[in-house]
Amino acid sequence: MITGDQLLIKQINKSIVLNTIRKKGIISRADLANITGLNKSTVSSLVDELIKEGFVEEEGPGESKGGRKPIMLMINSLAGCVIGVDLDVNYILVILTDILANILWQKRINLKIGESKEDVISKMLELIDEAIKNSPNTVKGILGIGIGVPGITDYKRGVVLKAPNLNWENVELKKMVEERFDLKVYIDNEANTGAIGEKWFGGGRNAKNFVYVSAGIGIGTGIIINNELYRGSSGLAGEMGHMTIDINDHMCSCGNRGCWENYASEKSLFQFIKERLEAGQKDDFIDSENIDSLDINDIAGYAELGSPLAIDAINEISKNLSVGIVNIVNTFNPDLVLIGNTLSAIGDMLIDAVKEYVKEKCLVSRYNDVAIEISKLGMLERAIGAVTLVISEVFSYPGL
Ligand SMILES: [Zn+2]
Repeated sequence: MITGDQLLIKQINKSIVLNTIRKKGIISRADLANITGLNKSTVSSLVDELIKEGFVEEEGPGESKGGRKPIMLMINSLAGCVIGVDLDVNYILVILTDILANILWQKRINLKIGESKEDVISKMLELIDEAIKNSPNTVKGILGIGIGVPGITDYKRGVVLKAPNLNWENVELKKMVEERFDLKVYIDNEANTGAIGEKWFGGGRNAKNFVYVSAGIGIGTGIIINNELYRGSSGLAGEMGHMTIDINDHMCSCGNRGCWENYASEKSLFQFIKERLEAGQKDDFIDSENIDSLDINDIAGYAELGSPLAIDAINEISKNLSVGIVNIVNTFNPDLVLIGNTLSAIGDMLIDAVKEYVKEKCLVSRYNDVAIEISKLGMLERAIGAVTLVISEVFSYPGL
C-alpha cells in the first residue's frame, strides 16, 4: 500500500525531474540521476510516467561518454497550451503559448481611459475566446488562463480588491472567467506576473534576489527573494509605487500623500510636460495641440532628436524613479533591479541616468554592486508572467 507521504514524495520528485529537464533543455536519464541525486530506477520510472502523460519526449541518441549512446529527453512543448492576459489601464494584450512560454498567437487592443468595467471584461473575454480558437492540437489542450491586473489582488480567491487606475473594487474576476470557459484561472497583480515572467523566462533567470519595477501608468513592484516571489502575509506585498517620497505633497488615489508613482510613472511624465506647456514653454516637437495624441515612444523619439522639453521630462522622471530604486536597493540588497512596462521604452537614456544616481546616492550599492537593467522581454513580460502562473503550477504538480 502507498501512504500519503509516499505519494507526496513521488510528486515532489516528479516535479524535480520535470523541472531539471526544462532547465537543461535536453538531457539523458543518467545525467538526470546525477543532477537530481535520485537513483537511476526512480528517475526511469518517473520519466516513463512523464512520457506517458505527454510532458516529456525522447530525442535521438546523444553523445556517448563511453559505451552505448544515451537516449536524450526533452520537454514536449506541445503537451498543452496556455493563455496569458496582460490587462492594463489602457490596453489588453492576450497571448497563447506552448508550455515553454513560446508565443503561438497574440493580440493587443487599446482601451479608452474610463471605459466601464463591463466593457473591459467583455473585450477581454472575446480576446480569450479568440486565443482558444487559434490554439493548435496538443496532448492536454488548454491548461489554464493567467491574468495580470494593475491593482491589489487576492491571489488565492482571484479577486481584484482594488485597481485605482481602472476604478475597480472587489471584482471576482477568476470566477467570471472560469464560469465562461471552464478552465483553471489564475489572477495576480501585474507587477507580480512581470517578476515571475522575468524569473522563469527573462532577465531574472540567474538572479536569486531581484526586484522588478513595473513603471507604466502607475508603478508596481514584484519582489523575488531566494528565487521565489515574495507575497507578504496575505499576498499584498510589492505596493512600492505607494511608498512615500514627499510627506508634504498632494493626495494620491490610495489615500496617502506623496507616493512614488505620482513622481516617476508614465502618468507623471505627461503631467510634467503639460505643466511646462501651460507655463508657456515652447518646443519644436511638443505642444498643447499634439500632447494628448503622443505616447511614451514619441517622447523618447523627440528626446533623441533634441527636444528640450522631452529631455527635461525624461531627466525629471529618471531622477524620481531613481529615488525609489535607491530605497529598494537599500532595503533588499538585490542582485538586480529590472525596469519594465512602458517607461522601459525610453531605454538607455533612462537606465544611464538611474545608474548614475544610484551610484551617487545609494549606501548599499557602494558595498555590493547591483545590476540595473531594462526588461528584455519588452512589453510581453507581464503577459508571459501571466502564462507562467499556469506553467509553474503544471511543473509543480505534473499529471494532477
Ligand atoms: Zn499612493
